[in-house]
Amino acid sequence: MLKKMEILDVDKVIEEFEAMTKDAENVQRETLKKILEENGCSEYLQNLGLNGRTDPESFKACVPLVTHKDLEPYIQRIADGASSSILTGKPITTISLSSGTTQGKPKFVPFNDELMETTLQIYRTSYAFRNREFPIENGKALQFIYSSKQSETKGGLIAGTATTNVFRNSQFKNAMIAMQSQCCSPDEVIFGPDFHQSLYCHLLCGLIFREEIQLVSSTFAHGIVHAFRTFEQVWEELCADIREGVLTSRISFPSYRSAMAKLLKPNPELADLIHKKCSELSNWYGLIPELFPNVKYMYGIMTGSMEPYLKKLRHYARDLPLISADYGSSEGWIGANINPTLPPESATYAVLPNIGYFEFIPLKENAEEHVEVKVNDSFLSMEPKPVGLTEVKVGEEYEIIITSFAGLYRYRLGDVVKVTGFHNSSPELKFVCRRNLILTINIDKNTEKDLQLAVEQAAKLNAEEKLEVLDFSSHVDLSTDPGHYVIFWEINGEVGDEVLKECCNCLDRSFVDAGYVSSRKVNAIGPLELRVVRRGTFQKILDHYLGLGAALSQFKTPRCVGPTNNKVLQILCENVTKSYFSTAF
Ligand code: AMP
Repeated sequence: MLKKMEILDVDKVIEEFEAMTKDAENVQRETLKKILEENGCSEYLQNLGLNGRTDPESFKACVPLVTHKDLEPYIQRIADGASSSILTGKPITTISLSSGTTQGKPKFVPFNDELMETTLQIYRTSYAFRNREFPIENGKALQFIYSSKQSETKGGLIAGTATTNVFRNSQFKNAMIAMQSQCCSPDEVIFGPDFHQSLYCHLLCGLIFREEIQLVSSTFAHGIVHAFRTFEQVWEELCADIREGVLTSRISFPSYRSAMAKLLKPNPELADLIHKKCSELSNWYGLIPELFPNVKYMYGIMTGSMEPYLKKLRHYARDLPLISADYGSSEGWIGANINPTLPPESATYAVLPNIGYFEFIPLKENAEEHVEVKVNDSFLSMEPKPVGLTEVKVGEEYEIIITSFAGLYRYRLGDVVKVTGFHNSSPELKFVCRRNLILTINIDKNTEKDLQLAVEQAAKLNAEEKLEVLDFSSHVDLSTDPGHYVIFWEINGEVGDEVLKECCNCLDRSFVDAGYVSSRKVNAIGPLELRVVRRGTFQKILDHYLGLGAALSQFKTPRCVGPTNNKVLQILCENVTKSYFSTAF
């Protein structure tokens, strides 16, 4: 009876979601009202002259669009322990560290109970839709989740990555049990002090509970690929541990050792079975369904900067469905994946109209130049005009702006999304890319998506040689005249110079942006350079970010390394083994 009560009522969740999305405009109005009523007394809102008004029109008239930089001084005061209500009515007690892969350093953002509640609502919603298509029984999940170090800010607030704040919240575990997706690893593994050791123990737990595993997941798809690449290195050691019932001495922290001792028993049959299965695989194809015979699907964020990992993920997963997890950020959640049967390349996210107040800056109108108006003989750039959640148009691209229950008002998240349709009256969004251009020298404009497409194109030449681009990044090198694009590749195995030269030319040709092509033709941008880096270079980059307090759970490989990100650039440059210049133009 108790068990039954714990399980989530998915029909009810879907019913509530349907009702809410049918009335998205009103729900948005009500949500804004609630946010402003709860937080209107904060110093930030008080100074903007809303005077108790909570309607969207007054809100937009009084509150400016902001970026993280604008709010930094306020958030810093909160972190330093100012006791007054600065951004929210109720004081903030926890700070999230966003992954900061774009800027090179983690950003502070406020975290509170309301944000936790919206996180759970998103999880429940996508689970309800997912479970209709891919029901899971009462089993376990192999979740590659990790906690970052939690620290205290100067003012005594707890600071950790958003995922850490979520995983550490007592409601998280209950929610996972209700969704029949409880992590197979004990807390000591999730919250252990060393992520290499945590990962090893996660793999071991997965093998011990192999028959019960219903899904394999991580926050971002990179986490799953990274885990099974590690498995390729340590599988024999894992088998030995299972055979003897003793954890390898490499796992040194007592917390892991005592937690794993409770699970490990000598099991030579299981060790033999896993050994046999691994030995029989060809290049690890289909590893996941072989190891976990009852797994139903793979789950994690698979869109945006995670797309380059899909190929490898499919290789490990064979015919298992890959389902992209939801869309959000440390700043707040946006939408849930309610079409789990779509492949990740087409995944969209339906916005939940009660988890925040959303606005959208149309990019077509504003993408190139902002509208300029003449005031007192000088030209001023007009602020782009955002539209409301239900006013967006199918097929158009927008920059998303969020107003959250955690003290962010009209906050430019920096993401570009495309509206692909509506679910009732709430839009479904496809993630396009981060708005900031990553590669630009003069009139050329290339985003992370453009880089990804170019790398995919060039990697096809590699694929013919059965070689794989394990990871990649880029950099604008202005030390040469003219400046040029540098693409860093870590590849699997040895590739001949001829192939890599061709890959380099292909990369150069694959940036089809008119500004780039014309600049290349007149040599206003120099020949693209492909630099091959040593195996393990991207692992060093990951370690560098973890050292800064990032968590593996939230890690996104920096796809472009700017001049302020010295350390990562240094890691890349120190590990270059070969370099090629394009002769494509
Ligand atoms: P973080 O800074 O670690 O909180 O990461 C948040 C960022 O990750 C978002 O602003 C997006 O750029 C990206 N992101 C989160 N969810 C998704 C998703 N489902 N698809 C693509 N990118 C995502």
